Amino acid sequence: MTSTARPSGRNQTSRVVRHQMYIGGRFEDALSGGTLEVYDPATEGVIATCPAGDAKDVDRAVRAATSAFYGGWRKVTAQERGRVLLRLADRIRARRGELAELETRNSGKPIVEAEYDMDDTATCFEYYGGLATKINGEVLPVPAEAMAFALREPVGVAGQIIPWNYPLLMAAWKIAPALAAGCTVVLKPAEQTPLSILALAQDFEAVGIPPGVVNIVTGDGPGAGAPLVVHPDVRKIAFTGSAEVGKLIMRAAADQLKRVSLELGGKSPNIFFNDADFENAVDGALFGTFINQGEVCSAGSRVLVQRDIYRKFIDAAAAKAKTIKLGNGLDRETKMGPLVSSEQRDRVVRYLEIGRGEGKLAVGGGIPKALDWGWYVEPTIFYDVDNSATIAQEEIFGPVMSVIPFTDEAEAIRIANATPYGLAAAVWTRDIFKAFRVVKALEAGIVWVNHMQPTFVEAPWGGYKASGFGRELGHWAVEEYLETKQVFINLDEKPIGWY
Ligand code: ADP
Ligand code: MG
Repeated sequence: MTSTARPSGRNQTSRVVRHQMYIGGRFEDALSGGTLEVYDPATEGVIATCPAGDAKDVDRAVRAATSAFYGGWRKVTAQERGRVLLRLADRIRARRGELAELETRNSGKPIVEAEYDMDDTATCFEYYGGLATKINGEVLPVPAEAMAFALREPVGVAGQIIPWNYPLLMAAWKIAPALAAGCTVVLKPAEQTPLSILALAQDFEAVGIPPGVVNIVTGDGPGAGAPLVVHPDVRKIAFTGSAEVGKLIMRAAADQLKRVSLELGGKSPNIFFNDADFENAVDGALFGTFINQGEVCSAGSRVLVQRDIYRKFIDAAAAKAKTIKLGNGLDRETKMGPLVSSEQRDRVVRYLEIGRGEGKLAVGGGIPKALDWGWYVEPTIFYDVDNSATIAQEEIFGPVMSVIPFTDEAEAIRIANATPYGLAAAVWTRDIFKAFRVVKALEAGIVWVNHMQPTFVEAPWGGYKASGFGRELGHWAVEEYLETKQVFINLDEKPIGWY
């Protein structure tokens, strides 16, 4: 149903590299011997294979992580854990070009964006390298002849499942705080994009990560993700991905009352008042929606525009969207690459078909004809979309913007919050009073004013409502990997004398 008028079959141009996963400090095949194909979304060719891990491989990895945790990692000082993370940050900086190119080849994203991702990845490890030595307990003011304190202890083995949109950065967001907290890790990358984290794993031992402390199990969701969630020795699951899989994970974890943190989808509003800097607003709408081909959980895909500037805004946004250069992400001129997979492209194309019945098309709306290969979708803007429409309510995860008009501040807030999700939001205005009123009224875990998407490791990241719970980044992420132990010490030497 993908309406592509292209040659069928594969554009197989490169050598297929056979990768192994990383368990207990060694690169290993799946016990079953099974493999998955890994693609270049720009050529549709297979560039690699990785092991199709299953429950047996997950079990091996969890055993390695468990013995690493009890066998020594718990005794490694916070200073040394911090140094390990700092050394890993240095390695990422040293390998920036190579890792960015690999990320682009595997995910499709423009190389310039992949380079930003590598910088953010290094910064993330660096931040948690510094934070490792600042995880303190508290002394509590209990009465008289006693002393009490709260100890912070690592939860143990953390299971981590990540998506394909920011492959290495999402791995860093999960691995870095877990190691800072003193946990060991079994991470399952998305089956579409395992290459960058496997490449980084080559450096784990050299930077001082002992065998078993970080394990990477490749495989698909049902095959490798599901058994990780229900493994009895995994104490905590951190997941970033779709709401649909988030629900499955929460249900599966319930049987063992396992801790979960979930960073799920969004349908984030990007609100433009008539007093916003117009040129910036248009740019911000496109950037907020189309960065990373729109494959962003915090994409500002619902663009709310005040009626006074509505028509002008649509015309300007459409004109600018037409100039976005699509192409192979490895080309430095490329502003938008292909979507990650044919499945994702087909999914987005289905939404484009729905959108034609729900709104008016300002630009895009299909598969670009000029490119022979690659899972591209044109940057697309629908307008006159009702907030209750499917394209305004469901996360598309592609370059599709729905523009919705509003009359006043109250209506903007009402529309903005009328979604099951609550990940992010942005507001554009030069009126500081209005900006802060709207900030306070928005039900979202992240609110930007006069920008959208800038993300800093110091600041908390996560959603309200159906966008999940728990927070990543900053000191908040470390909390997700810590237990709190209350310790009470009786200082009164006389017998208790109750019975
Ligand atoms: P998408 O459908 O866009 O690929 P998903 O939420 O399915 O997004 O994928 C995010 C991550 O969740 C991937 O690593 C995927 O393999 C994993 N996953 C998918 N299904 C399951 C499942 N049933 N249990 C655990 N992990 C899963
Ligand atoms: Mg899925």
